[in-house]
Amino acid sequence: MSAIPKHTAKAIVFTCREERLRNQIENIIRSLPGGAFHAALAGGGGAFSFEPDKHVALKQVVAAHKINQITDIYLESHLGCGAYGLAGITFANSQAEITKLHDDLSTARRVITEALLAEGVAAGTVHVHTRVIDLHGKPIDRPVLAKTA
Ligand SMILES: [Zn+2]
Repeated sequence: MSAIPKHTAKAIVFTCREERLRNQIENIIRSLPGGAFHAALAGGGGAFSFEPDKHVALKQVVAAHKINQITDIYLESHLGCGAYGLAGITFANSQAEITKLHDDLSTARRVITEALLAEGVAAGTVHVHTRVIDLHGKPIDRPVLAKTA
């Protein structure tokens, strides 16, 4: 009987299920030393803001930490995500969409940090990386608001 090699991934990549993203998701996972867990729910990083998906999403992240003591969490959301429309969320324009996706990723970072702290994970030992991308995998920065001073 051959021994099954231990899974040594120290990261989880959390994305939408959108199949058009698969190449860039595979690229991210390949770029991480030891690979990564991959969790996918409609909405990607936005799933942490949707009920009841939030609980399923958090469970995946906490489980990855319990199994392999992951040190890095990569959350992605993408433009044109059908999960937002399904949730009844519409955007006045692309700036509004980009801002909302970044806001939801900030929420995801906060709820994940709270969940890990509640599990007894030491503060600062797990890093949450967030990214909004287009369907080609290109990162889309948060819009910069004009200063009003
Ligand atoms: Zn999507």
